[in-house]
Amino acid sequence: MNGRTHTITGVASVLGATCATLQFRHNISELPAPLSNILTPPSGLTLSLDKMTFVAAQVELPALSLTLLGLLLLGVVGGQFPDIDQPTSTIANSGRAVGRMMHQHGLLGFLVKVLFWIINFIPQTMAWIANNFFGGHRGVVHSLLAMLVVSGLVGTATWFLFGTAFYGTMFGVAYLTHLVADMFTRSGIKLLLPFSDHSFHLLPPGIRFKADSEWQNGLVQTLAMVAIVVSAWGLVTLLI
Ligand SMILES: [Zn+2]
Repeated sequence: MNGRTHTITGVASVLGATCATLQFRHNISELPAPLSNILTPPSGLTLSLDKMTFVAAQVELPALSLTLLGLLLLGVVGGQFPDIDQPTSTIANSGRAVGRMMHQHGLLGFLVKVLFWIINFIPQTMAWIANNFFGGHRGVVHSLLAMLVVSGLVGTATWFLFGTAFYGTMFGVAYLTHLVADMFTRSGIKLLLPFSDHSFHLLPPGIRFKADSEWQNGLVQTLAMVAIVVSAWGLVTLLI
């Protein structure tokens, strides 16, 4: 599947999982420490849960907006992250993509492009490492172990920055969604690397999708867009 499909499914999964967690914490607020650490939404969301008055809602709106923006960003990055093991993927060229998006003219435009071309060195280095040391495309980076390690690192970083590992959990949800989507394709993925190189599939042989199937991209993007609308509506009814 292409980068756009992974982006949309990543965002859909994060919105859906956030909605489900908020509903779950609404019903069950007391959890043992390890679970509470990874399932406590950032304060911008929890404050909103108490069905605030309009004035309080206005005060909390910036925090709520920033939290939602952060979650959307995590959905975009987490949904594409496993393809960092492919040097030509969108995520491995994210620096250049951002540089192009900001396209300005003249000297400033040139400097912006050079800056993001240099920043692009970071995902390209990660792609190089994945290709040379972790089995290349759909190698270790497309495994459950990598999902846990990378999400754990994101969760730890956000724990220090924002006091909750919830963002790491949501990054993991988007990462897992990518792995599940790739399991519909013909080559499948080796979920249990480095312990086993068995390829896992979610469809029987014969009806699996080609890796670049336009049909699959269209179908998955449509389903994910429906999921985004339903989750967004769920969030609105939970928060307001
Ligand atoms: Zn992939």
